[in-house]
Amino acid sequence: RPPGAAQSGSRLSPAGAPAAAPAPPPARHLFSDPAEVEALRENLLAWYDRCKRDLPWRALAVTEPDADRRGYAVWVSEIMLQQTQVATVIDYYKRWMQKWPTLQALAQASLEEVNELWAGLGYYSRGKRLQEAARKVVLELAGRMPRTAEDLQKLLPGVGRYTAGAIASISYGQATGVVDGNVIRVLCRLRCIGADSSSPAVIDWLWDMANVLVDSSRPGDFNQALMELGATVCVPKAPLCGECPVKQHCQAWRRKLFGRPPPVPDVEDCGVGDCPLCLPATEPWDSSLGVTNFPRKAAKKPPRAMRTATCVLERRGCHGAPEYLIVQRPSLGLLAGLWEFPSIPLTQDLQEKKEREELADHLQTWIGQPVAAKGLQLIGEVIHIFSHIHQTYVVYSLHLDGDVTLDPALSPSRWVTEDEFHASAVSTAMKKV
Ligand code: SF4
Repeated sequence: RPPGAAQSGSRLSPAGAPAAAPAPPPARHLFSDPAEVEALRENLLAWYDRCKRDLPWRALAVTEPDADRRGYAVWVSEIMLQQTQVATVIDYYKRWMQKWPTLQALAQASLEEVNELWAGLGYYSRGKRLQEAARKVVLELAGRMPRTAEDLQKLLPGVGRYTAGAIASISYGQATGVVDGNVIRVLCRLRCIGADSSSPAVIDWLWDMANVLVDSSRPGDFNQALMELGATVCVPKAPLCGECPVKQHCQAWRRKLFGRPPPVPDVEDCGVGDCPLCLPATEPWDSSLGVTNFPRKAAKKPPRAMRTATCVLERRGCHGAPEYLIVQRPSLGLLAGLWEFPSIPLTQDLQEKKEREELADHLQTWIGQPVAAKGLQLIGEVIHIFSHIHQTYVVYSLHLDGDVTLDPALSPSRWVTEDEFHASAVSTAMKKV
């Protein structure tokens, strides 16, 4: 049966009679020929064996004999790779695995240590959740990693469908597919899927397709090969179709070559009916885009604009070197538990005079002595884009003379040298500041 067809058979009409099942999408959106599936697997795996990048987590997935350590090693890499480039992750991964080579070691780490190592990698809740989940495996599962995608997703907090599939296939050889951003792009191009690729119906379809395609003898390699293809060949803007090992299976490439949908015998054509997977009639194929007509996504909501006033408070330390005050953020919300220069959110249209006064009041609570708004020196603005926030930091500085006693009743705070600042759990945004 074509992937996805079974779900439609059990629907009931409002009157209780079986509703007519929607027609399955045309064959160009399917992999229905077993010989083609076999050929695609062979071509993709042969290419992967020749061209795969040498990455530390891949080496561990092959050489680590202990199944729990192996699953943990893959898990860490998958969490770090979410939303982050491979090149950035490599160093972080090596340092992490050196410091916490096992689940047990990670379970004993403090959140502060985790945040320090994670600093600069972004999306900080990932590190925290990874550590909480490691504790759960050690305390509640006797240190044994679940071995299937279903159990991994059910038992480990922060492990979703993709991560579970990746760990189970790469570490434990379970023949289960994975769908991430790279796979979405490759599959949408291979099968000319032009409907909104972030819609639940299309995502379900792609999962079904990934499960049909995965090679049961080398599922981990197959999944990594599909993702590697998306990361290095079938890239978003200028895919290298000429070098692609699966171009003979690619409907988008054929469509680009022939300038129209390739003929598929004995099936209805797309675009004439209400095909739920084709490009929408309102935004048809654009020949100037070629294969990058696929995938299509609904327009993202623009990020929310926020302004924050922040002050770099500086004093002379006991050895004469300058020191800076950093304070800890709350343990929940954006950048939870990280350290920053004292900061306050601003309303968008505040005058600079008012901004200074609010910041001066805020600083006074930290250092326990009056701060003159006029004494704050405006340094400039720093812009940092979080996934959903366009953040502008209005940066001030203030030099303090004499000793300052910090109030221990407030949130944790401390004076740090520049080197200590860089070794602390601070975000990239604060390093820019
Ligand atoms: Fe992607 Fe081009 Fe390969 Fe098709 S032929 S899968 S569009 S790189």
